Amino acid sequence: MFKLQNVTILGATGTIGQQTLDVIARHPERFRAFALSAYSKVDALFEQCKQFEPVFAVMLDADAAESLRIKLQAIASPTQVLSGLSALEEISAHPEVDTVMAAIVGAAGLKPAMAAARAGKRILLANKETLVMSGNLFMQAVEQGGATLLPIDSEHNAIYQVMPARKLENLADGGVRRILLTASGGPFRKASLDELKAVTLAQALKHPNWAMGPKITIDSATMMNKGLEVIEARWLFNATAEQIEVVVHPQSVIHSMVEYIDGSVLAQLGNPDMRTPIAFSLGHPERLESGVSSLDLFKIARLDFETPDLVRFPCLRLAFDALKLGGTAPAILNAANEIAVAAFLAQKIQFLEIPQIIESVLSHSKIVEVSSLELVIQADEAARLAAADWIAQH
Ligand code: NAD
Ligand code: MG
Repeated sequence: MFKLQNVTILGATGTIGQQTLDVIARHPERFRAFALSAYSKVDALFEQCKQFEPVFAVMLDADAAESLRIKLQAIASPTQVLSGLSALEEISAHPEVDTVMAAIVGAAGLKPAMAAARAGKRILLANKETLVMSGNLFMQAVEQGGATLLPIDSEHNAIYQVMPARKLENLADGGVRRILLTASGGPFRKASLDELKAVTLAQALKHPNWAMGPKITIDSATMMNKGLEVIEARWLFNATAEQIEVVVHPQSVIHSMVEYIDGSVLAQLGNPDMRTPIAFSLGHPERLESGVSSLDLFKIARLDFETPDLVRFPCLRLAFDALKLGGTAPAILNAANEIAVAAFLAQKIQFLEIPQIIESVLSHSKIVEVSSLELVIQADEAARLAAADWIAQH
């Protein structure tokens, strides 16, 4: 017999949220969807509530919450509907909750993830922006709250799987020389700078290997996603920027590697399907069936590796810069990127203006130490305004 785990899913209607529910539905004796949340997609959350009957459903938007409440009442659903940021924090820290899947996109995911950390939950962290913005504070909150942190990002999950199991003070302590963080290179891996200038939204939204939400898909096309992941790895594994090497690997079969001081390189491989890291983290230390098919190495036939091009992909260089600058620089980078990506998705700016905006905001911002969450949020807000100004003026 297993103890039934109560799971809160922040961002249940998103790509990661849906795949988490897919895995949970395969193991009803082990997991219960205790609370589900979404920003404003009433119909999508309504369908999930019908199927999973969570105790709570939270919509960030109050009007959307009211519509959901009416729809659920009409079918005599037992689910209670709440709204707003405080409700997201409540379902993350609720005493009956064991596990929180943090799968909101962007800076909006920070506060609920922090609430889960402080409440000592088992946190399945997909929202990399939390670590980019406030890595030191978040890792501290995990430590002090007695929380367990499991990375969902496929690369970090892979690294976690091949790292020494015991807790490390630093990489050297575990005999680890460096982390090899793989990147698909995105849809424009082979595009020239001139071609990149003329990239359309439809082209940027077509990722060769992964099906993901729109923001992270654009981040993958600019390679900012890899930049954010370098910063994420820095905090998760207490690595320095020099200990993290980005390796372009177009097949997305090796999800990342760890090199040890004796020359051993350990890798985790699998089909590019997020249900593997989700099932790993839900079940850890046990393995769970995830619905992911077997890796067909004969069909894949070859694995390629390339060095990343920081000239064609300036976002990756900017992320390394922000990591070296430290303090609020990564939060500024992240906020400027979110505004720039939203503008690109709204077809208000060109593809190569994304790094231009970030570089401009980063070079004109005051960078301070991250000593409190308020300072991070101030830096985030100021960078958003600066990025919006840039867009208005160009
Ligand atoms: P998505 O856009 O598909 O879904 C986002 C979810 O967050 C939705 O449920 C939405 O309702 C909710 N949401 C959006 N804005 C919100 C707000 N302001 N307040 C509350 N809820 C809000 O995104 P996704 O692709 O599932 O990605 C989610 C997170 O996981 C991101 O941080 C992303 O970087 C990370 N991630 C995703 C993948 C992937 O394969 N999709 C892989 C690795 C990491
Ligand atoms: Mg990733």
